[in-house]
Amino acid sequence: MATPQPSRTQQKQLEPWRNAGEKPYVRVEKVTKRFGDFTAVDDVSLSIYRGEFFSLLGGSGSGKTTLLRMLAGFEQPTEGKIFIDGVDMSDVPPYERPVNMMFQSYALFPHMSVESNIAFGLQQDRVPKAEIRDRVAEMLELVQLSPFAKRRPHQLSGGQRQRVALARALVKKPKLLLLDEPLGALDKKLREKTQFELVNIQEKVGITFVIVTHDQEEAMTMSSRIAVMNKGYIAQVGTPTEIYEYPNTRMVAEFIGSVNIFEGRVVESEPDHSLIRSDEAACDLYVSHPAHIGVGTACWVAVRPEKIAISKEPPLGGEPGRNQTAGVVKEIAYLGDVSIYDVDLDTGKRVRVTAPNLTRRTEMPITWEDRVYLSWRPFAGSVLTE
Ligand code: ATP
Repeated sequence: MATPQPSRTQQKQLEPWRNAGEKPYVRVEKVTKRFGDFTAVDDVSLSIYRGEFFSLLGGSGSGKTTLLRMLAGFEQPTEGKIFIDGVDMSDVPPYERPVNMMFQSYALFPHMSVESNIAFGLQQDRVPKAEIRDRVAEMLELVQLSPFAKRRPHQLSGGQRQRVALARALVKKPKLLLLDEPLGALDKKLREKTQFELVNIQEKVGITFVIVTHDQEEAMTMSSRIAVMNKGYIAQVGTPTEIYEYPNTRMVAEFIGSVNIFEGRVVESEPDHSLIRSDEAACDLYVSHPAHIGVGTACWVAVRPEKIAISKEPPLGGEPGRNQTAGVVKEIAYLGDVSIYDVDLDTGKRVRVTAPNLTRRTEMPITWEDRVYLSWRPFAGSVLTE
């Protein structure tokens, strides 16, 4: 049975940023943060909508944490303004913001039990005892830690400690939860499992999450949208698919996953396609979208490794010399489900290809030093101008 597709209205609710009438829950307006003469956050503007799982993704020192700390109120913008739920936060101290922050270190109290750690903030706020009990029990249930309520943090695994920190941040019912590298302390397997848990919990509680991460896979798995940060500015904002399939610069293309970038020059620039001549690729690159730049302009074409087909025979169909090139296999990495091939073209350009391992028995496997043909479809490439 076919899965029912969301209606247009539902889609708009799921993707509020596409709805011009929707008011952002968080609005960052031309925010700059300088420490002395160093600019950590550079003229950033962003809109984040209610219920989003929004990631700030970037390399070390790109300004992600500084931006998060300004949302929390731990730092003040040097220039610009932050609005939360329509209210200017300039004079609102951290404890009066509808915001809670979960730190990478979790900052749990080692001498307190799990339930006391979760209850702590509510006790500080003088919430009645019976209500504290109920809310803590509800949180323990949510993060599946009820059987561990009496344990101390050192008697828990890393993943369980992470869930205590999450419960402690959520119990105060913030409207906005800020998470700084929330899975940073977990090993790879546990990280992957916890990513799904975190998304499920976020959907259950319906709170807007803004997370900081340097891990692109993590951002791709969890986020409604991602802002890619570089040197304090925002390079691109989009859904994981938009960022991956339509990166706007070489920097974003290279940061998100692996990519082949071919340098070339536009020879046809039409509304429905562009043709780029590339000496490096030793073929013409036909792209089924407009480049919006004139004939003769220098540009780059990005092609993801999984979009390139590799074969020992020349490809059937297509047009020779267009999205078809050839080279010699120099490296192979077998990863089980896929294999990675690094192929040197005759021009010296190294091209990466990933191919699923569905080898047909009749086909000879590709091995080192084999001469191979590479080909890809017109929709596989993106034209980039910077
Ligand atoms: P990471 O992933 O390494 O934590 P980040 O993207 O979160 O990186 P930030 O912590 O926001 O980066 O820091 C951005 C830049 O601002 C860095 O170069 C950092 O050294 C600088 N910076 C941050 N806080 C201060 C401070 N209080 N004083 C001076 N410089 C600072």
